[in-house]
Amino acid sequence: MKPVIALVGRPNVGKSTLFNRLTRSRDALVADLPGLTRDRHYGEGRVGERPFLVIDTGGFEPVAKEGILHQMAKQTKQAVAEADVVVFLVDGRQGLTPHDKTITDFLRKSGRPVILVVNKAEGMRYNAVVADFYELGMGEPAVISSAHGDGVHDLVDLALNTA
Ligand code: GDP
Ligand code: MG
Repeated sequence: MKPVIALVGRPNVGKSTLFNRLTRSRDALVADLPGLTRDRHYGEGRVGERPFLVIDTGGFEPVAKEGILHQMAKQTKQAVAEADVVVFLVDGRQGLTPHDKTITDFLRKSGRPVILVVNKAEGMRYNAVVADFYELGMGEPAVISSAHGDGVHDLVDLALNTA
């Protein structure tokens, strides 16, 4: 089976932008994905000879008890459960938010390997971008720009070596 990378993070951090870059918008054929749930947004990516699957999640809204946001949270939890590695995106321009902390707690409990990734970092100083996020206790974050592509190749290598 191809390794599965789930993209997780609160709304607007750039998950779909990264998904599109990783998959170049090639949606995986769900028929080719034995053992995976069919109602999520899967794509297929490749570095060199190494293919992988990516799941784009619709955002993570841990406080919602019902309705569409609750449903999205449930989808995200299922995506995490089937992932070999979770790429947890945060927004380097907005900095740390309470939702990021809630998601961190959830991911820690999930027991999945997690890579913390600070997105939207183009044109920003490394130290300034990462400073906020050490508080999450997930170690040194990877730093990328999904929109421009900076750091994305290294991130995929890291994710595939972690999966
Ligand atoms: P999602 O809700 O997590 O899927 O986030 P989207 O991929 O839809 O992106 C949310 C917004 O952030 C959009 O306006 C994107 O253009 C913007 N965005 C995504 N990645 C980057 C980035 O690397 N740099 C900057 N400056 N903006 C980004
Ligand atoms: Mg999205």
